[in-house]
Amino acid sequence: MRYFITGGAGFIGSHFVRQCIENNHEVINFDKLTYAGDLSRLEGYDLHANYQFVKGDICDHALVYKTITEFKPDFIVNFAAETHVDRSIDGPDAFIQTNINGTMNLLQNALTYYKTLEGEVKERFRYLQISTDEVYGDLSPREPAFTKDSPYKPSSPYSASKAAADHMVRAWQKTYGLPTLITNCSNNYGPDQHIEKLIPHMIFCALKGKKLPIYGTGENIRDWIHVTDHVKGIMAVLEKGLIGDTYLLGGDNEISNINVVTTICEILDRILPLEDGRSYAQQISFVHDRPGHDRRYAISNTYTTRKTGWKPEISWENGLKETVFWYASHFKTMQENNKDYDLTRLGNVA
Ligand code: NAD
Repeated sequence: MRYFITGGAGFIGSHFVRQCIENNHEVINFDKLTYAGDLSRLEGYDLHANYQFVKGDICDHALVYKTITEFKPDFIVNFAAETHVDRSIDGPDAFIQTNINGTMNLLQNALTYYKTLEGEVKERFRYLQISTDEVYGDLSPREPAFTKDSPYKPSSPYSASKAAADHMVRAWQKTYGLPTLITNCSNNYGPDQHIEKLIPHMIFCALKGKKLPIYGTGENIRDWIHVTDHVKGIMAVLEKGLIGDTYLLGGDNEISNINVVTTICEILDRILPLEDGRSYAQQISFVHDRPGHDRRYAISNTYTTRKTGWKPEISWENGLKETVFWYASHFKTMQENNKDYDLTRLGNVA
């Protein structure tokens, strides 16, 4: 199969590109290389005969058109996005530009290309939008988990821009017949995530002997999923998903932020104990909550599992342990690559 992947130099996109190459698919990675994009995530894979990279912006109509029509993909998978919630609060413009206008540009080009296809190739073609559970807003502690029928109630400029993109994807399917799919996934974790996201940020600050800042009381709950499980879910949806449908992908793993950080500290206490016998947990500090901070996200995988057979496989215990090990063993590189990183900022929790 031929995959046109946008945002393949980012955290989740790079894991997806690697999976495609390992499965012998052909890939174009189309990425603008913003501050969040890093081609070193694809080291080794980038030399593979099935891999090509195009530096480009999903808002660039001519380049997207040229790349799609020359490559002739079976699948377009859109990971490209501005993804940091706090950044969206400080400056929403880039989020509107990439997440909304960029998605519309992809949809228009996908449709033009789709109309040129015939027979089996046309039947096989899919446009898949990678979205988030944040479009559904937040849940109180006892409310049932989100399903694909939950109403959209985004709270931040980030989630509002992702919600707008989802609405367009659905509209392009209903109005123009573009064969689209949407996946809404929960919070991802795993190796090689940008340092500004909660888990790498906390590990980095802990190892630097800095404060571990947590919003509010740390009781906000997220449903954490290992990035490998997310990538497998996307593959399952591309293979078995019904045109126009939405598939939620969650980790079946609701954990409060304070629990995430104390567990990271416990793992670090075991693998890299501090000389003075203190626990890393003593570095935890609580800071004023951010505006519009959703209390809880939770995902029901029931529909997705029934339709595709996919379910998350990596346990939080093993996944987090392996993830903390990964960052601890890449600490030197992280230091070299992030000399100007502001350690007083807050790890993005989504
Ligand atoms: P990321 O920030 O690590 O990577 C985003 C990538 O998109 C980067 O490589 C960046 O260079 C590229 N990009 C940004 N703007 C672009 C543009 N205009 N044109 C081309 N490329 C551009 O993001 P991530 O965490 O890997 O998330 C990927 C996707 O998954 C996003 O759409 C996000 O909304 C969604 N998602 C993320 C999570 C999560 O927990 N990280 C959860 C659910 C859904």
